[in-house]
Amino acid sequence: MTTITGPGLIGLDADTLKMTLEAIRDYVGDAIPEERQLQLDHDDVCPEDVVRGMCSDQLGVQLLFIPEHYGGMGGDTFDVYRVCEQMARLDIGVATSVLATFLGSDPIFVGGTPEQKREWLTEIAERGVLYAYGATEPEAGSDLAALKTTATPVVTDGAVTGYRLNGRKQWISNGGIADKYSILARAPGGPSWFVLERGTDGFTQNRPEDKHGIRLSNTAALFLENALVPAGNLVGGVEGQGLTQAQQVFGYTRLMVAAFGLGGGWSALDRAIQYSTMRIQGGAPLSAKQGYTHKLIVPHAVRLEAARAYIEYAAGRTDAGEGAGGALNTEGAIAKYLATEAGNAAADAAIQAHGGYGYTREYQVEKIKRDVRITTIYEGTSEIMEMTIARDRWQQHLKSGGRYYRGLASELNDLHARHPDVGAATAALASGSLAGILEACRTGRLTRHQHVLLRLGELIAHAEGAGRFAGRAAAALDGALPEKADHRFDAGTLAAMSRVFARDAAQKVACDGLRWVIGAGAPGGTDGAGVTPSETSLELDAACAAQAGLVADMDRVADALYGRAGPATATKER
Ligand SMILES: Cc1cc2nc3c(=O)[nH]c(=O)nc-3n(C[C@H](O)[C@H](O)[C@H](O)COP(=O)(O)OP(=O)(O)OC[C@H]3O[C@@H](n4cnc5c(N)ncnc54)[C@H](O)[C@@H]3O)c2cc1C
Repeated sequence: MTTITGPGLIGLDADTLKMTLEAIRDYVGDAIPEERQLQLDHDDVCPEDVVRGMCSDQLGVQLLFIPEHYGGMGGDTFDVYRVCEQMARLDIGVATSVLATFLGSDPIFVGGTPEQKREWLTEIAERGVLYAYGATEPEAGSDLAALKTTATPVVTDGAVTGYRLNGRKQWISNGGIADKYSILARAPGGPSWFVLERGTDGFTQNRPEDKHGIRLSNTAALFLENALVPAGNLVGGVEGQGLTQAQQVFGYTRLMVAAFGLGGGWSALDRAIQYSTMRIQGGAPLSAKQGYTHKLIVPHAVRLEAARAYIEYAAGRTDAGEGAGGALNTEGAIAKYLATEAGNAAADAAIQAHGGYGYTREYQVEKIKRDVRITTIYEGTSEIMEMTIARDRWQQHLKSGGRYYRGLASELNDLHARHPDVGAATAALASGSLAGILEACRTGRLTRHQHVLLRLGELIAHAEGAGRFAGRAAAALDGALPEKADHRFDAGTLAAMSRVFARDAAQKVACDGLRWVIGAGAPGGTDGAGVTPSETSLELDAACAAQAGLVADMDRVADALYGRAGPATATKER
């Protein structure tokens, strides 16, 4: 059974999704068992056969990304998030190679003519054509508008029959192995996407980059010297649409990279959880040491699940058709920011949790840490996410006359009235406090400091993350989580996790917010506009008071992670 859940996309039913996730696990597990992964990582080799196998009849994962109309299965955002998380759990390099085809076909998906879509999307579905997404250049990364690659029209008998591409692309996933390339180049009418075939004269690929991580993914520079593409390969047939087409899909594609952060982080953390049940130190397993679990395991599990709540929230809205034209780009940015920073921190903690063994290759966490690191860089760095988030929500704050986060706080207080156990009141505190901080920034004109603006991005992500986590925990208590959602944790555990995260968010917003409001001003105890930060100080007191019960909740989360029944059993022994 399938249902329409989004703009032209047909979602899988829960059973099909489950079977798909299992099939991916089995296929990758058989094709590249962990020892082979370590060897490929060591040798810096992309297993192209495995990537092609995944994107062919052997596994057919590419079908998820392509609408039914073009021969695919038309997975919705929720499906694709779950699949991306699963692939990342297995290997983020291979996952990147699979996603590159999806990214490469995105400009076609949002901007192609009906004929282009039929031709190019169908051949991905039916023949497993691999794509690369060629946007970044040596001098145009975060600032894509600075791109220098040119597309010069070739005019024959007064009509444009083709374009000559000249320039260089940098850090292109699948750069050395793709069959087709989406290339962003500056045409006379503005930046535009072109589809370029491998083997075109004047088009060459550099050798693979020697990278820190995702060494199972091929990353290469591309050189374009008078490479000719037919005029029909201008995506959409109109010049100047390229940056808009790229922007339109960020809300969606960043959710997929968010899912990579989630998958990588959980893969590392689950290894640490397992390891700590067997490693005996001080006469007991590490899993029984509260100082170990509550530093290296619990906070990371909580952050990852908070990120999941946000991903599922954004995926649900995308599938409800709200993301058209890039309308959910901020939500995509928040999801990516929370999940990739959490994944990165979790993988780092997993190395620490393994002690010296974690620092060796055999235990995998060292590789995962290197792999997951890329997720805070590609598809927009964390700093660009902070900027994207802060700019949009700052506008919302101004437009609403300061009521944007007061409104969210009020919704959360209502939720607290229905579900007093999910941390909603503390999440409301974070939102209310954020409204105060934003207002202090407005009166003090503090966002003229770029650093303050970006730090606001971080606080916003945490406050909104806390709100959505409380919502997800409440849905779990109501038995209303979507069938296709992750169901690893029971409602009580999610509620405890949400309370832990909400406390963290409330403390962070009040404490760090106050710090930047005061810090952006002159020495002397007032903020930049001479406004005393007394109101936000009061919220700091409230955030501190809300920490009561934190350790007991962490005990509860630890018990759930270790499958321990009943009251907290973690000890405080040394
Ligand atoms: C392994 C790998 C695979 C990749 N795959 C692809 C791909 O398939 N296709 C593709 O097109 N690209 C790809 N990329 C490129 C990737 O998206 C870019 O590296 C990324 O967007 C950052 O751009 P940059 O490297 O030029 O860094 P820069 O933009 O130069 O940024 C450097 C640092 O400055 C910060 N910064 C940048 N601008 C600002 C600002 N205005 N204010 C404050 N701080 C700022 C950044 O956050 C970062 O910390 C890949 C990169 C890697 C490493």
